[in-house]
Amino acid sequence: MISIVVPVLNEAENIPALHTEIVSVMKVLGRPYEVIFIDDGSTDGTLTELREIAGPKISYLSFSRNFGKEAAIIAGLEKASGDAVIIMDGDMQHPPSLIAELIEQYEAGFDQVVAKRNKAKEPLSRRLPSKLFYQLMNFTSTVHLEDGEGDFRLISRKVVEAILTLSENNRFSKGIFEWVGFNKTVIEFDHIERESGSSTFNPLKLLDYAIDGISAFNHRPLRVCFYLGLVVLMASLAYILYMFVNIAVHGVEVPGYFTIIASLLLLGSIQLFSLGIIGEYVGRIYIETKNRPKYIVRESSGNETKQGGRHEKQYHQ
Ligand code: UDP
Ligand code: MG
Repeated sequence: MISIVVPVLNEAENIPALHTEIVSVMKVLGRPYEVIFIDDGSTDGTLTELREIAGPKISYLSFSRNFGKEAAIIAGLEKASGDAVIIMDGDMQHPPSLIAELIEQYEAGFDQVVAKRNKAKEPLSRRLPSKLFYQLMNFTSTVHLEDGEGDFRLISRKVVEAILTLSENNRFSKGIFEWVGFNKTVIEFDHIERESGSSTFNPLKLLDYAIDGISAFNHRPLRVCFYLGLVVLMASLAYILYMFVNIAVHGVEVPGYFTIIASLLLLGSIQLFSLGIIGEYVGRIYIETKNRPKYIVRESSGNETKQGGRHEKQYHQ
């Protein structure tokens, strides 16, 4: 049984086409399936469309307001009962024709099959910022992300259960998919323009998304304070020593200069350094409050997926 989870926000015009296409693809494959649409607080006719197509195989869930695509995906995963779940966008940018290939790879034994968007044909103005983001993200973070690998993927039941054990609210799904691990394979598809409607992601929202991503997987930005404080403190001490020696040898040139500069430098750098120390603790609290499992088991002799060590101390992600 395959579950297909589709988060939709104001996709009324795309739903009928998407529905027909999914149904025809699944008919050819001839296996049991369910499609779960998550209406993420749409304000157009999306809900009406969903009511129309609902049936034994098509179900939907409608949020009271817009909670964001990440929340919609989680709701879908919680509702899904398939052995494997396919997550795809509702705007036809994720072609249903790829479903067959996703399932094929799943049957070949992969727990995560990622449909990666081929970005070669996209304008540089869009590719450059995303490249920058992935470099920054991969530099600061403990998980490795690939540009073009989005939410369009198939995940096995084991991966679904693993993802659902992460109790954090601020979810950065790309990172979480990577974080839970399991064996993964990638298939490629070409970028397709939106069928109708418009993307809800503008540059500012994307920047927000980038900050979410970077902060959800590490507290290294906080550590920058610590190092900066340390460097400035060392430099000030060196400069103060130099001035002191200078005065001892040549005598005072400008009265008061030494005391003012020395106290300014010392106070400033001690403050920055202390902030860094506080940052370390805040970072630890941040990671702890996520209460992520310490590890996820792929398989055991009993052949079941288990999460362990949720209540023990852990200081890394
Ligand atoms: N979406 C959603 N909630 C949101 C924003 C988007 O459920 O708050 C859905 C949207 O309907 C679409 C998918 O997420 O099915 C991807 O959104 P979009 O096409 O706007 O993103 P892009 O393709 O530009 O990255
Ligand atoms: Mg889209």
